[in-house]
Amino acid sequence: MKEIVVISGKGGTGKTSLAAAFAALAGNAVVADCDVDAADLHLLLEPEVRQTHDFSGGKLARIDPVKCIGCGKCDEVCRFEAVRQNNELYVVDPIACEGCGVCVHFCPVGAIEFGEAINGQWFISDTRFGPMVHARLKPAEENSGKLVTLLRREARRIAGEQGRQTIIVDGSPGIGCPVIASITGADLVLVVTEPTLSGQHDLERVAKLIAHFNIPAAVCVNKWDINPDITETIAVAAQAKGLTWAGRISYNPAVTKAQLQRKTIVEHDAGELRQEVATIWNTVSSLLKASTIGEKERGE
Ligand code: SF4
Ligand code: SF4
Repeated sequence: MKEIVVISGKGGTGKTSLAAAFAALAGNAVVADCDVDAADLHLLLEPEVRQTHDFSGGKLARIDPVKCIGCGKCDEVCRFEAVRQNNELYVVDPIACEGCGVCVHFCPVGAIEFGEAINGQWFISDTRFGPMVHARLKPAEENSGKLVTLLRREARRIAGEQGRQTIIVDGSPGIGCPVIASITGADLVLVVTEPTLSGQHDLERVAKLIAHFNIPAAVCVNKWDINPDITETIAVAAQAKGLTWAGRISYNPAVTKAQLQRKTIVEHDAGELRQEVATIWNTVSSLLKASTIGEKERGE
């Protein structure tokens, strides 16, 4: 089984539209929406949820008002200022609590419960292109790297059980913990960027990250005709850094029309746009077949 992760230096580059189009073109893949902080692949793939599970990314303190003697020690030791006093009762603000456990240790009467925090939910669903794993984090929740790892593990499990050879991951944007969790152990990374100076800069940062993990990578430029010169510069610079040039996609209002109709761009468009996306898919499919790094890391 092979896993491709589609990422970008920042949100809004067309990464999710491309991942959804790949799901349509692959035909027999498992799809994972690992952009968990801004998950929107479901808008295009319209998954029918089969299983729902709670996601716990850590622990949460809760003060038992019956046992609490009001000494204030928890308030004193909490460096996240998560303990509040309400009408002389001490309570923990669940949004501010980082689950460090210090208050639990110092409470003289054992009045603080320390249970699993429920930070969101994750789902196993069916789409018109095959199974999908995805999630919904509660507002302002963190630990999304842990959730990304969980979703990728489930996608691999489903692919193994159903004999599906390809996993398509819509990865997190940027270079932080969630994107690292998205790409480690993958067979191939596709970076989607735009022909702007910030797109160029973002690509450089992402390329450094990918090189650090030694993962084969390719690059494509979305809306390339907005600035052909920068597109050319990006293509040359990417290849100099060892990334494969996968192709370019023209600016096309059909992308927005497809989104409004909740379709992938290759379902909506049978012309130039579909051809451009199919060319990129063919390139990354070949790279994916040739890559063995993910299988080695996963011990397959
Ligand atoms: S678990 Fe840590 S962060 Fe949460 S209230 Fe206790 S001391 Fe504060
Ligand atoms: S340390 Fe324990 S007893 Fe003291 S205020 Fe906090 S919860 Fe109550």
